[in-house]
Parts: sequence; structure tokens; C-alpha cells
Amino acid sequence: MVRAPMEKVVIIGSGCAGLTAALYAARADLQPLVLTGNQPGGLLTTTTIVENYPGFPDGVDGYELMTRMQKQAERFGARVRFGTVGAVDLSRRPFGLTVDDDRLETETLIIASGASHRHLGLDSERQLENKGVTYCATCDGALPPFRNQPLVVVGGGDTACEDALYLTRFGSVVHLIHRRDTLRASKIMAERALANPKIKPVWDSVVTEILDASEGKVTGVRLKNVKTGAETSLECAGAFVAIGHVPNTQLFQGIINMDESGYIVPRHSAATNVAGVFVAGDCADKVYRQAVTAAGMGCAAAIEAERYLAALHK
Ligand code: NAP
Repeated sequence: MVRAPMEKVVIIGSGCAGLTAALYAARADLQPLVLTGNQPGGLLTTTTIVENYPGFPDGVDGYELMTRMQKQAERFGARVRFGTVGAVDLSRRPFGLTVDDDRLETETLIIASGASHRHLGLDSERQLENKGVTYCATCDGALPPFRNQPLVVVGGGDTACEDALYLTRFGSVVHLIHRRDTLRASKIMAERALANPKIKPVWDSVVTEILDASEGKVTGVRLKNVKTGAETSLECAGAFVAIGHVPNTQLFQGIINMDESGYIVPRHSAATNVAGVFVAGDCADKVYRQAVTAAGMGCAAAIEAERYLAALHK
């Protein structure tokens, strides 16, 4: 039987956490292998300008930041491979991984699998995905169907505000639909969004249906006011859903300790309940969820993995 290639450190995920872990592990001469997942560079690649990553006083494009992080890790020997992990076996040493059709073995594993966009959970949303329903304003906002048309953003966080502001460049008006009457977004983002004359907030409202699945494109949304129960509809050509994220941890359910929402709960620092498996970034962080905190967690995970390997081979 052909033995699967043996790695010292495999990192699942190529966002801020994964690539920072790769940088530190590479500089420790561990030649880490980064498995990108289906979104190389992670969620930050879908952002326009990142204004709160230290070291960039004028802000930095999210895609550029991630490309730079990858180059920096590769410079010290990290290998980045496009691929999605389909299965893991953490019950034996070395750990086993199936990546697309290949098998890999590794002495340590860093889970930095991040989080994905949360969906509203409506049938009409699923039917109209990519036909006017989108989860990425930066990726899709400039598309011709959205130009000079009324648009809707759902959510009340920083992402919703950022998306709404970005979409004012293209839409005739941007309705910001939020289920409460105060935004969750940071003060600066909320103020910027509410001060923009093209952004019209719709408070205390939830989307109950996206219209019109029978036409195969978005023509509007049906809304319900959660305080009065009143139902209305609003015309729009695009529905941009920005209601947060769910951690990408399904693969580890029942193996790695996680909370009821699926966020991995570290045992201490970056270590998990399985010795040799470490965690970093948004898949283990429902509090801060910032690029810089994810990077810090990636650094910690790599240092822990290095110490674990040193003790193993003493
Ligand atoms: P978030 O902060 O979790 O906000 C999600 C928003 O969606 C909340 O307003 C929430 O309403 C609403 N929501 C959740 N589930 C919903 C549902 N089923 N139906 C309707 N509304 C729903 O997520 P985020 O805005 O993506 O931000 C994530 C993290 O990234 C945050 O830490 C944020 O600060 C950070 N971030 C920062 C920037 C920046 O600094 N420029 C930009 C983007 C993101 P409630 O408020 O009622 O809970």
C-alpha cells in the first residue's frame, strides 16, 4: 500500500488565521501545508477597503492584504494548496485527512476554517441565489442588473452598513432592513450609513419572502414589522443578505469540543480537546471576529503546534 504523504503541520483554511499560522510555522522550519478551502484568502477577500488592520494608515484592499499574507508565508517555505478537506481521522496518530481525492497524514493540525455567510433560511432566497440574492456586495454590487435600481441590504451589523455604503455607488436607493430599531454596527459605521442620503433604514422588520421566484429574478421583498405585525412589500432589483456568519466546523462535530452554535471551544489558548489539534480564527471566535484577532490566534496556534512537536520529538 502507498503511504500517504506525511506532514508536520497542516493548516485548514487560508484566511488571516490560517496564513498567519503558516507564516509562524514556516519560520519555525516546519514547512506547513495550507489547504485553502473553497474560498482562498477567506472572507476578507470579499471586502473592499480594510481600515482597521494595523500598519495600513490609508486602509488596504482585502484581497491585496490576503495576497500579501500568502506571499509572506510562502517566502519562508509554507505551501498553499487549493483543496477542500472532505474527512478527518483524529482518532489515530498521525492524523489522517482526505483532501479532494488524496489522503494526507500529519503530526499536527491547525483548524482555521473560518465562517460562512448566514442565510435567512427562506425557500425564495435559495431559489433566487445568484439571481439577485447575494451575500457579497463587493463581489456583485457592480453587476448591470443592480445599476440605478433600488436595492435592499438585510442586517444591522458592520457588514450590512459597509455593504449599504458600497452599494450607494450603484443603486438608486439602498433600503437597510433591520429586525430591531438600533444598529449592531460600530458607532462609526452606523453613523456613516445613517448619514448617507441614499440609505433608507427600515426598522423592526424581517424579510418573509424574496420576490419573485416565479420570474426567476429579484423584483422585491415582502416584509413584516415585528412590532406591529404589518406586512408590506418593497420593490428592489437586488437583495444583499448581511446577517452574520456560521462557523465552518461541521467536519469536526462530535470530535472537537464546540458550543451549541458550532464555534470550537479551545481547551486552553489555541489547544483543543485532541492533543496535536489547534484552532484559530473565526471558527473559534464569536466575540471579536476581526482580521487582527484572527491573525493573533493564528500566531498562537502555530507557536503551540511548534511546542507540541518539539515535546513529541524530544
Ligand atoms: P454581526 O455583527 O453578527 O451582525 C449580524 C446582523 O444581522 C445583526 O444586526 C443581526 O441582528 C442580524 N441578523 C442575524 N440573524 C438574522 C436573521 N436571521 N434575520 C435578520 N437579521 C439577522 O455580523 P457582521 O455584520 O457580519 O459582522 C461580523 C464581525 O465582523 C463583527 O465583529 C464586525 O464588527 C466585523 N466587521 C467589521 C467591519 C469593519 O470594521 N469595517 C466590517 C465588517 C465586519 P441583531 O443586531 O438583532 O442581532
